[in-house]
Amino acid sequence: MARLFHYKIVNNAFGDPCVLVKLLRERRAILLDVGDIRKIPFNEILKVSDILVTHTHIDHFIGFDQVIRAILRRQEPLRVYGPENIIECVHGKLMGYTWNLVADYPLKIEVYAIKEEEIVFTKFEAYKGFKLEKIKSLPIKNNLILNEPMFNVKALVLSHGTPVIAYSIEEDYHINVNKVELDKEGLSIGPWLGELKRLIKTNYDYDPLKVLKPKRKTSSIKIETPKGNLNIEELFHILKITKGEKIAYVMDVSPTKENVTKIIKFVQGSDILFCEAYFLDKDKDRSIERNHLTAKITGEIARKAQVRDLKILHISPKYIENPQEIYREVELSREEILE
Ligand SMILES: [Zn+2]
Ligand SMILES: [Zn+2]
Repeated sequence: MARLFHYKIVNNAFGDPCVLVKLLRERRAILLDVGDIRKIPFNEILKVSDILVTHTHIDHFIGFDQVIRAILRRQEPLRVYGPENIIECVHGKLMGYTWNLVADYPLKIEVYAIKEEEIVFTKFEAYKGFKLEKIKSLPIKNNLILNEPMFNVKALVLSHGTPVIAYSIEEDYHINVNKVELDKEGLSIGPWLGELKRLIKTNYDYDPLKVLKPKRKTSSIKIETPKGNLNIEELFHILKITKGEKIAYVMDVSPTKENVTKIIKFVQGSDILFCEAYFLDKDKDRSIERNHLTAKITGEIARKAQVRDLKILHISPKYIENPQEIYREVELSREEILE
């Protein structure tokens, strides 16, 4: 069945962590961390609308300049989310270049610093030489930092010696078209189906009784189909609605009980969890010193949160000769064989 999210892990587990999440038929992509992005083709960087940065250690942030380089003449703004110092870090990077020839470029970069209970934001615009503007703030409710018709993004503040943010990207529900019913109606496939999905997502919730319910009282919503103008509710029977996917991303976290408890709750029921497994349990003293999770803890998180698919993205170079030990420890812990 067609899914909304299509991800690409950019580097192997010893390279910089970075995942490109492409949105089906949206000509749009989200970057989870922005480490070494040289393997992402230019045309895909051009589609990046949002960058979700866990923290600004260099292995998670060095690719930022390359994104700016690629999108400099773009109309669509870039949104960057990150921990409390993200505005200073973006500003610092932008101030590292000379911008006297970009006054007619439309690029705008919106930067959002995530704190426990509020989100602080500002924008940098090419035509103003990317100078720092006034910073504003808004409260955050239910960890929600981005709420769009097609998906939402949640953020969780954790610690790594410095604040670090874990993210989830989730589609409330997924709409597929039943081809047999479509044919029966004498309708054909076309861009109008994308528009239909967007209208439904914008105006309807999918409740626990598995019924589409209008979000608010609205008069009927019409759509132009190959058979003429129809009320969208007349088309519900050609659709198949399923649970949406949840992607979670957790990197560089101190192995404390508090962090682990918060992560398990936050990533609960994820279809995919991208996570670090930086050290082996036998090196746990080092993991505490360096503020990273061990393979055993990562396995435990995946088990307790009932994660469907776990992808290990970040392993200490210490294990470059024997990464299988890390994967083995993750799996044993996930199957509860270690305890
Ligand atoms: Zn790292
Ligand atoms: Zn780090």
